[in-house]
Amino acid sequence: MVGAGVVGCSIAFHLAKAGARVSVFDRGAICAGMSARSGALVRMHYTFKPEAELAWKSLGYFENWGDVVGGSCGFVRTGFVLVVAENNADKLRRNVAMLKSIGVETEVIERGELKRLEPAVFVDDVGLAAHEPRSGYADPVATTESLAVAARASGAEFNLNMPISALAHLGGRCVGATDASGKTHEADFVCVAAGPWTDDLLLPFGTRLGIKSERAQIAFFRRPPALQHGICIDTIAGSYLRPHGTDLTLVGLGAINPEEEASPDTFRETNDSSFIDLARQRLATRLPGLATAPYARGHAGIYDVSPDSRAVLGQVPGVTGLFVAAGFSGTGFKTSPAVGAAMAELILRAKSTVIDLSPFSFERLVSGELIHPPDEYELGAEFGHSL
Ligand SMILES: Cc1cc2nc3c(=O)[nH]c(=O)nc-3n(C[C@H](O)[C@H](O)[C@H](O)COP(=O)(O)OP(=O)(O)OC[C@H]3O[C@@H](n4cnc5c(N)ncnc54)[C@H](O)[C@@H]3O)c2cc1C
Repeated sequence: MVGAGVVGCSIAFHLAKAGARVSVFDRGAICAGMSARSGALVRMHYTFKPEAELAWKSLGYFENWGDVVGGSCGFVRTGFVLVVAENNADKLRRNVAMLKSIGVETEVIERGELKRLEPAVFVDDVGLAAHEPRSGYADPVATTESLAVAARASGAEFNLNMPISALAHLGGRCVGATDASGKTHEADFVCVAAGPWTDDLLLPFGTRLGIKSERAQIAFFRRPPALQHGICIDTIAGSYLRPHGTDLTLVGLGAINPEEEASPDTFRETNDSSFIDLARQRLATRLPGLATAPYARGHAGIYDVSPDSRAVLGQVPGVTGLFVAAGFSGTGFKTSPAVGAAMAELILRAKSTVIDLSPFSFERLVSGELIHPPDEYELGAEFGHSL
């Protein structure tokens, strides 16, 4: 396993639990990459059904973490609303129907009901909303670390501060991974979950996902504890926000300048002052009571954006024994438990019963048959990724 972010640790946990001998390599510590920077929203509302299924199957983990994984993932149930303008209302109705068809607890709600549920939210420009009572947010570092602890308890070995410089191959088969000291660690299967660094390891095979690194930022603003709210994805203004503890609100936007490619090694890690102003404006649009909320802190991270903004989960075409789980495009935290379970089955048994992973296959990038869900929303500027 290359990568000890939330995805790599989840795959390692599920592989080890199934009895496989697992070695995880990371060039840094556990959770040294983008997982630690995640907004860690846990919601089910996607427009692509297989992705919604991954999120739905993952919710059971977040809600029962101590029993299923052990330790704590810090899940806080807050409820979630997605608000759309009139032009997206029909799509929202169809998406909620699709989500209900796979079992997600969600309802379409009108403006009045939204105001009753979320009194602090400005609703006058809202055409329609979707509500998920069971959604919330988690602690991404605690989630990743507890997956690693559970993987170790099932026998997985972690090799930290050990960068993998190349994957070893022999006649079209991946046979291991070579670390920076030149030592090759042999393996029957290698899975790369190296976030925005994934393509670096695939290039010698003459292939790549085509990941674009986009810098995205989140900021925390101080909130009077009397002003309560849940999670809101605001497709109208173009932002997402959630409470953080009792007295902070997190506001996130995607890349302010998506044309610019950032480097995951050298990007600016602190907030831009222009971002802080923009985030506060977007916050004030949806929660007017926070129009003058003081900025507390914040940071930037990198979205590993795939050509169709959906994850790539499966075998690398033409290379036996090499798997990839990357290209999560800014939304891979919430699906990581089910991704780990499904990838472990795919690697060990050639087929996942958790969910059919074929819609996420690498082949779609080769054939150009990219994912375009029928009811994708038109999103407000700078929202940052597809839903
Ligand atoms: C600002 C921000 C907000 C987000 N908010 C949300 C959200 O609200 N909800 C949600 O679901 N998702 C969210 N995401 C996305 C989510 O955090 C990511 O999709 C997820 O964390 C990706 O995990 P990962 O394990 O694939 O990658 P990473 O956590 O980046 O892990 C990759 C690991 O690979 C290691 N690595 C790289 N190259 C090598 C090498 N050559 N050798 C050894 N190790 C290597 C790195 O050190 C790193 O530890 C957000 C992302 C960002 C940046």
